[in-house]
Amino acid sequence: MVPAPNRRRFLSVACCTAAAAATLIPDRIAHASSPAKHTELSADQALAALKDGNERFIKAGAECFEDLAQRRQSIAAGQAPFAVIVACSDSRVPPELLFARGLGELFVIRDAGNTVDTVATGSIQYAVEHLGVPLVVVLGHRRCGAVQAAVAVVEENAVFPGSIGQMVEPIVPAVLKAKGASGDLLDNAVRENVRRTVMRLRTSSEPILKDPLEAGRLRVVGARYDLDDGRVDWFMES
Ligand SMILES: [Zn+2]
Repeated sequence: MVPAPNRRRFLSVACCTAAAAATLIPDRIAHASSPAKHTELSADQALAALKDGNERFIKAGAECFEDLAQRRQSIAAGQAPFAVIVACSDSRVPPELLFARGLGELFVIRDAGNTVDTVATGSIQYAVEHLGVPLVVVLGHRRCGAVQAAVAVVEENAVFPGSIGQMVEPIVPAVLKAKGASGDLLDNAVRENVRRTVMRLRTSSEPILKDPLEAGRLRVVGARYDLDDGRVDWFMES
């Protein structure tokens, strides 16, 4: 349970984002009611907006009183998110909060271990093709429980009940690769898990991703969120 003062502060950080984004793209709000309108941000501008939001999240000093009801109504007829975030379901890693973004700005796909299966791939492709999103961020995080479970499979032949084993399976190759590196195995595996997904998306043979990537209309980047200091490490921008 988050104590009330912190909760209020997080909400204020999150809700100041739409106003900040409006400064960045002054006419975006005006066009938000048109379902066909895509974001006007390039991939580089989208990445800069996320970096700026994470800085504001870390400082947590920004206050704003944006009218969420008004914002909700302004985007009800159509969305124009500027980034896809593939993140872990971990309750400490909510993309809208840690990037200080508001309603209608991020197209978020979450599962434990931020892996990308067919459904997630289709969701990414929908966002890119149909919503015109120029940036995909694959976001791992420190001390990820799903990656830790994959480490346990590799190191201790751990077996998990229900469908958890299948959920962890796609992360195992990342752990095997990370085993060869020096340093902390879990953190190396977190990064390798992100790296593999980023590379898979970047090298997709499907025109729906390949074409915008080759045309420079789409970027796919990898990052890792630090639970301790709130900072996002953009370790795989290119
Ligand atoms: Zn996790």
